[in-house]
Amino acid sequence: MNVVVCVKQIPDPADPGALDAETKTLKRDVKLILDESDSYGVEMALQLVDAAGEGEVTLVSMAPNNERSGLSTALAMGAASAVLVSDPALQGSDSLTTAKVIAAAIKDQSPDLIIAGSESSDGYTGTVPEQIAGVLDMPSVTAAKSIEVDGQSVNVQRQTDAGHDDVVCPMPCVISVTAGVVEPRYPSFKGIMAAKSKPVDEKTVADLGMDAGAVGWAGAGQDIVEVTEAEQREAGEIIEDDGEAFAKIVSFLEENKVI
Ligand SMILES: Cc1cc2nc3c(=O)[nH]c(=O)nc-3n(C[C@H](O)[C@H](O)[C@H](O)COP(=O)(O)OP(=O)(O)OC[C@H]3O[C@@H](n4cnc5c(N)ncnc54)[C@H](O)[C@@H]3O)c2cc1C
Repeated sequence: MNVVVCVKQIPDPADPGALDAETKTLKRDVKLILDESDSYGVEMALQLVDAAGEGEVTLVSMAPNNERSGLSTALAMGAASAVLVSDPALQGSDSLTTAKVIAAAIKDQSPDLIIAGSESSDGYTGTVPEQIAGVLDMPSVTAAKSIEVDGQSVNVQRQTDAGHDDVVCPMPCVISVTAGVVEPRYPSFKGIMAAKSKPVDEKTVADLGMDAGAVGWAGAGQDIVEVTEAEQREAGEIIEDDGEAFAKIVSFLEENKVI
């Protein structure tokens, strides 16, 4: 059972940095960390390989400046190896190009299963996993809250507003997992030490057989025309308990489809 997990390395959300004034993209020339959204995918993959009793977890990441701090965290959790795609030509890549690059890096791995997060914490277009599936011509399942391997297919519980759908999907396939559905393990000291000697295969655009002119700004099918500040959150409503507060809270939760 070989599982590839796509992991994005992002600027620390506690110190998100700034946008480049000219390109309007996030400055990523800082230390990057493992996106918390992807720690759930890593945990799920490790549990699937454990349950299968054989195989391994391989990480794939596209990141600037050969950055591997986030990969080290996932390797310390227990992944066996990583493929890191880094190349100055990739700067300005939109989400479809990102998916094409990641798909090219995955191809050589011939995995049984590819796991990604539902959406990243910095870009959160929530499109990359399904685009990877499209490029690799594989089926995909979104918003998975649990995955169980059954022979040559997977049984997936797919989160919905009302509960979940049970989906059966043939392997190999791409599954995006919902954040918060498993408890990602903390890397142990032994894991952190072991991660230092695990293989990280660094690849450039040329190594993947791709044309540098088809990626980055040159290959982007989208332009960032404007960036505006997000609206401030409005103050919440305070409900005083006059003996009927529970009814107001229940109706608020119903209106927002929480219950
Ligand atoms: C024209 C244009 C130019 C851009 N230029 C830049 C730029 O110069 N610098 C910049 O930082 N951003 C840039 N972006 C944003 C960048 O395209 C997205 O951040 C990136 O494509 C991933 O999209 P996302 O974060 O929305 O992924 P989502 O679809 O929200 O991510 C879902 C999951 O896909 C996987 N995934 C996503 N990205 C990666 C990755 N890189 N490696 C491994 N797995 C991944 C992860 O599992 C993740 O949880 C640009 C966007 C546009 C439109």
